[in-house]
Amino acid sequence: MSEAVLVYLNGRYLPPEQALVSFQDRGFVFADGIYEVIRCYGGVPFRLQAHLNRLAESAAAIWLPPPPLEELNEVCRTLLRRSGLAEASLYLQVTRGAAPRQHLFPPGVPPTLLATVQPADVPPPATRETGVAAVTVPDERWDLCQVKSIGLLANVLAKEKARRAGAYEAVFVRDGVVTEGASSNLFAVWNGRLRTHPAGRRILAGVTRTAILETARAAGLAVLEDPFTLEELRQADEIIMSSTVMELMPVTRLDGAPIGAAVPGAVHRTLAAGFAALVEEAIRAGR
Ligand code: PMP
Repeated sequence: MSEAVLVYLNGRYLPPEQALVSFQDRGFVFADGIYEVIRCYGGVPFRLQAHLNRLAESAAAIWLPPPPLEELNEVCRTLLRRSGLAEASLYLQVTRGAAPRQHLFPPGVPPTLLATVQPADVPPPATRETGVAAVTVPDERWDLCQVKSIGLLANVLAKEKARRAGAYEAVFVRDGVVTEGASSNLFAVWNGRLRTHPAGRRILAGVTRTAILETARAAGLAVLEDPFTLEELRQADEIIMSSTVMELMPVTRLDGAPIGAAVPGAVHRTLAAGFAALVEEAIRAGR
């Protein structure tokens, strides 16, 4: 992970070493907060409004006051401009502020507003060419997975399990149903038909996921937002993971066994080309 090069904290732009938060911040004490990660291409934040809208939805879901979206929009653009970075990653976090530790919401405490910019964390190019390995893990998260909560312990443990198994990503399975990755959404292909878990409380509906669904429909692919089981997944012709950081990532091995021909497939190629076109379009349009 790259180092943040510039930070915005509660109204001020600061070098990282001066951006300090109270030990009583509820983000630190309770993971009482929400976040977003936004990829910037050619100096343009990709689908910024969609990320800000999701931040607002996450805030509403945890009873935080609505975040100042216009200010955050401006902050993102200012951080990016001042960083001088073209390929960058923006991080936004809002917590319920700093107050003496007690579970109840503290009255009259302003939220902590953090934004950082750093060079984009790009997966090694070889991973996209060969595909990556994934392992399945029980989905032990809470029941509000649509909230982009900073409480990511279950995701962190799943990712570490994957790393220790020599895999790139963990795939969550709940009651036999595949939900999503530790930090990604998951698509699978059977006989040219694309499927992904429906949006709702079981997954975080990714901004990349939406872009891929648009791309798939525009390419005339059959697309279903329908749950599928792990048994079905093992028989898939292709598996593709998606996230802001990974973009599209083909999975060619699951729990050590090959998926399809164990090489990135035709649907992945179509979708990756479509996604690249969306990025090009965003760069050209400047938004
Ligand atoms: N699911 C989870 C659990 C994630 O952490 C992420 C990455 N933030 C995603 C899905 C993908 O979302 P996005 O495409 O918006 O990055």
